[in-house]
Amino acid sequence: MNKKNIDKDEIKKFNRIASRWWDVNGDFGPLHKINPLRLDFVTKNIKLENKQVLDIGCGGGILSESMDDIGAFVTGIDMASDVIDVAKLHQKESGTNVNYQNISTEELASTKQSFYDVITCMEMLEHVPSPNDIISSCSSLLKANGYVFFSTINRNFKSFLFAIIGAEHILKLLPVGTHQYSKFIKPSEIEEIARKSNLELVDTIGINYNPLTKKYYCNSDVDVNYIMCFKKISAWTKPNLMLF
Ligand code: SAH
Repeated sequence: MNKKNIDKDEIKKFNRIASRWWDVNGDFGPLHKINPLRLDFVTKNIKLENKQVLDIGCGGGILSESMDDIGAFVTGIDMASDVIDVAKLHQKESGTNVNYQNISTEELASTKQSFYDVITCMEMLEHVPSPNDIISSCSSLLKANGYVFFSTINRNFKSFLFAIIGAEHILKLLPVGTHQYSKFIKPSEIEEIARKSNLELVDTIGINYNPLTKKYYCNSDVDVNYIMCFKKISAWTKPNLMLF
């Protein structure tokens, strides 16, 4: 395994545009707009008040800060150091208490096993060389019965048209080159890796965009953007009663 599981070009790309993170009309505008939707999905599945929450690939802290606001104890990690600096700077203004760290998921997993109640890993798996390793590290980091949320982009002709041609080239919602089609992941692929790490699927939701109203909304259509929620089950399996 690539010990840090990092794509250096991706990190450079995020560092380069780090200062624009909190511009709601800028490059990260879509993340600001979908944030209430994804926070709703998380809190519908698990209450965050007084929970230890880890936000992996937290970026400038849009989701981290919103989870802190509702009473979670949030740690935000990201491998782009300039992005973490922006997150730290922003929280001086917002007065939130997120613990931001420039550390890899795998490194944290070696010291914080079974520590977190909830993990969020949003719009990040499609930027790493091995999503499998992130998913299995999430399982190690979670307490038994803990919840983890992954959001990413599906891989099919429609997602190529909508997420790359539409979002980057036509509507210009995101900078050109934000996403690579080959890094997109099907929900069934995430589910298979998750199952091998003792993560059981709880819920899935699609996040979609209406270019006419310029609004994002949730429904069951997971063809393009989607979020999956998993619960960590214990590795213990029922004894086979036939043996007794
Ligand atoms: N999760 C945030 C930001 C998504 S953008 C949100 O949805 O609001 C993707 C983020 O993943 C960037 O901040 C990028 O620096 C980070 N990232 C990319 N590769 C990473 C890795 N290997 N480990 C941790 N963070 C990574």
